Amino acid sequence: MKILVINAGSSSLKYQLIDMDTELPIAKGICERIGQSTSCITHEANGKKFKAEKPMPTHTEAIELMLAALVDKEYGAISDMKEIDAVGHRILHSGGVYDRSVLINEEVMKVCADNIDLAPLHQPANITGVRACQSIMPGVPMVATFDNAFHATMPEKAYIFGLPYEYYTDYKVRRYGAHGTSHRFVSGEAAKYLGVDPSKGFKVITCHLGNGSSIAAVKDGKCFDTSMSFTPLGGVPMGTRTGDLDPAILEYLGAKLNLGLKDLLTICNKKSGMLGVSGVSSDFRDLSTAAKEGNHRAQLALDIFTYSCKKYVGAYAAAMNGADCIVFTAGIGEHDAYVRKCIAEDLEFMGVVIDEEKNENLGKGICDITGKGGKVKVLVIPTNEELVIARDTAELALSCKK
Ligand code: ADP
Repeated sequence: MKILVINAGSSSLKYQLIDMDTELPIAKGICERIGQSTSCITHEANGKKFKAEKPMPTHTEAIELMLAALVDKEYGAISDMKEIDAVGHRILHSGGVYDRSVLINEEVMKVCADNIDLAPLHQPANITGVRACQSIMPGVPMVATFDNAFHATMPEKAYIFGLPYEYYTDYKVRRYGAHGTSHRFVSGEAAKYLGVDPSKGFKVITCHLGNGSSIAAVKDGKCFDTSMSFTPLGGVPMGTRTGDLDPAILEYLGAKLNLGLKDLLTICNKKSGMLGVSGVSSDFRDLSTAAKEGNHRAQLALDIFTYSCKKYVGAYAAAMNGADCIVFTAGIGEHDAYVRKCIAEDLEFMGVVIDEEKNENLGKGICDITGKGGKVKVLVIPTNEELVIARDTAELALSCKK
């Protein structure tokens, strides 16, 4: 079975064709600058790669180019489009309606459209991606995997804010979280690796630390709480985002800087976090280099990040009455030993001890970095959101064939 996974952004379209026998991608690529004057496709398969500038006024042309690349004699991975059994689409928001992936029909598309207000930058592009695929690949089963579906199982006390309740019922203002597919994948992989049944009281704290970072408390295989909020601006400070912030600061700064809410939110999203504090970069590799050279603000940015993550780990251990496992994943979680060390140190009171040597020298795949005497397993698990989408798509496509 071959599953095409599509992640359509406002001006880009990322894709992977996954062979479900091996669960490995046999082709992948990205169409960039869709709708702009110079768009380009980068495609990889069979160890060969090409990059070509091609006109892509809309996502429809991008999908046509992707399909042409997939069946290309030299660079392709299949000989006919019919070899694609189903398509899985990453969709940002279901507004809390779905707690799992679903086969796409008009009802699902209506839910997607009804929630555009909650994700105005991404959701329209996700919908366009589905529509373009449907028109070019009629009859091929399509599945929607919602980025926040995993968080839909949080208890009310974790997702309702301390605002007038009507804002939730009338305007859907609540915690939605993000990176749900990743939290679901790594918490499931942790249970598999440790040989436990996740539904039998298994408590994991998953730290997805990348450009955008979020932490989740996962209990009995379900999300119990997560740090990102109504939007991905909440939670820990990130590459360029503030993380949690007292909203009164916006009014105060608006008056000082003579800026409106829109501009202030742009600052909160694009110029804050690690970039804003350090003045150096949003990238942790640059921060690490600068900090080692003695740059105080770069070190401060790293300290703020790891301190905030540590506080979430402690909070989620309290929320779940302990933790059996902590997982680190995504760009920083998988690669930055210093960040892992800072988050995990001084947590002996709750049974967390890491082995510094193992933390510094990771092997391939899942790595156990638990130290001697540690009661909480500490794992580094490479995330794979595309594989989750492909697995869900394969399962739902098979069920609709029955
Ligand atoms: P995104 O949210 O864009 O998917 P990623 O998960 O790719 O982000 O994470 C990007 C972050 O991971 C960057 O800050 C980058 O510096 C960091 N990172 C990637 N590789 C390494 C590495 N080898 N060492 C330290 N940090 C790394």
